[in-house]
Amino acid sequence: MEVIGPAPEVRAWCDDARARGARVGFVPTMGAFHDGHVALMRRARDENDAVVVSLFVNPLQFGDPADLAAYPRDAERDRTIADGAGVDLLWSPTVAQMYPAGDPVVTVDPGVLGERFEGASRPGHFRGVATVVARLFNGVGACRAYFGEKDAQQLAVVRRMVADLGQPVEVIAHPTVRETDGLAMSSRNVRLTPEQRAAAPCLFLGLTEAATLVRAGTRSAAELVAAIAREVGGTEGVDLEYAAVVDERTFAPVEVVEGPARAIVAARFGAVRLIDTLGLPG
Ligand code: AMP
Repeated sequence: MEVIGPAPEVRAWCDDARARGARVGFVPTMGAFHDGHVALMRRARDENDAVVVSLFVNPLQFGDPADLAAYPRDAERDRTIADGAGVDLLWSPTVAQMYPAGDPVVTVDPGVLGERFEGASRPGHFRGVATVVARLFNGVGACRAYFGEKDAQQLAVVRRMVADLGQPVEVIAHPTVRETDGLAMSSRNVRLTPEQRAAAPCLFLGLTEAATLVRAGTRSAAELVAAIAREVGGTEGVDLEYAAVVDERTFAPVEVVEGPARAIVAARFGAVRLIDTLGLPG
């Protein structure tokens, strides 16, 4: 596995691969790899000829400097894991290599998609995400890019950005990888205390209850949201931030589940904020 920092060298590597006829698969990450990341890397490996993974903790998408400082980092472990997953190129830039002109002045506005839910809880977050992902796509060039369904609103923003800006990227969603008790794998999980870790599956429990209700015929979003809120809000030491049922593409709340809808939830476990989501049966 090669490890490269500067974007122009990544672009040359990818151009070279494409010139040889290779299809490039790309997995953008912020490191601290877990089995969710590895699943994306292996999928990219299976479906492409050359696999690029970026590892960059993007300051632009963190509103809170303490959250940025506390974000887990383990470069050496990450290299070993990426290598083991069959990654060909690890793009691991410094902040100066990613933004050589300094803090970006021109950024990507995610519009209303960036204002709802995660965007409301974390103002500026999706502008930071869209800007860095556009920057990463420019570094890699034409590719298939793999994103986790776990961050479903991020996925919706990226899909819309690719469509609106005409980026030469095919966006591919991968299902959420979970611990055996249902907790969605996340780099933030390592910061949970044992008590918080024991409480954390309440997010998935609430979401699966909502899915069960839909299967049994409930179509009212308010009833589904109430079920999620009961499960999460009723768990000790957990502060529910939001629970909602939204349109998969626009993230606008729906009142009645008809088309492709998604249940979403966010909660605080002390200093750790976790999100989860589940597509609802149609
Ligand atoms: P991150 O490093 O947290 O920015 O995540 C990098 C990519 O991995 C994003 O596309 C995430 O949605 C995806 N991802 C994170 N956790 C999971 C998970 N548990 N299952 C599937 N994909 C995930």
